[in-house]
Amino acid sequence: MSHRIQGIGMTSRRTRERMAQRIAEQGVNNRKVLEVMCDVPRHIFVDDALASRAYEDTALPIGFNQTISQPYIVAKMTELLLAAGPLKRVLEIGTGCGYQTAVLAKLVEHVFSVERILPLQQKAKLTLRELKIDNISFRHDDGGWGWELKAPFDGILVAAAPTELPMMLLEQMAVGGVMVIPIGKYGRQELQRVTRTPEGYEVEELEMVNFVPFLSGME
Ligand code: SAH
Repeated sequence: MSHRIQGIGMTSRRTRERMAQRIAEQGVNNRKVLEVMCDVPRHIFVDDALASRAYEDTALPIGFNQTISQPYIVAKMTELLLAAGPLKRVLEIGTGCGYQTAVLAKLVEHVFSVERILPLQQKAKLTLRELKIDNISFRHDDGGWGWELKAPFDGILVAAAPTELPMMLLEQMAVGGVMVIPIGKYGRQELQRVTRTPEGYEVEELEMVNFVPFLSGME
């Protein structure tokens, strides 16, 4: 393994284990999720200048006015998605730097990840290739359209906040499938988990969160 991936000091496995410990104290119980958070080197997803801060429980800038999601939120959303059982096909909207993508890819069979900002997607692809994670398909598009050709999905994770549930994503859920998504205006959103049933959709309203907005079109 390369030195960059392995990390030392503030970027070492021990630092990741402390991060996972703090996440567990905040109420994430899924052992597999916590183990993956100990494995995936979060520092290689951010600029070198920010690497020493990669394991703080905070969002950090990744360019283009976007942020890498806070570790607790990544763990929480993954736990919520996996609660119904093992997942095969998962759609992620908002690849960003690819960190959440990496965590998901280690826990499900295949991740389909859509990002609207091309340079972010390109960088994420390189980082994930460096980590030799290959059960991911990428698409440069407005995620509001989902990924119709690859639907239906057992799980959908949305990493940016629309003001209401996107219709196309609801349609691309398998029956029994779950979607974890922040909903609301900038700066104050509610995390929701939607489950598709044979009759329709069930919505659980969870905690308040803070995500970047879900934008339309491509860059
Ligand atoms: N999980 C990512 C989160 C990045 S921030 C990470 O930890 O790096 C949210 C991302 O969603 C940004 O990269 C933003 O460009 C993307 N995004 C926002 N609206 C989108 C849309 N409609 N379709 C696809 N990606 C979108």
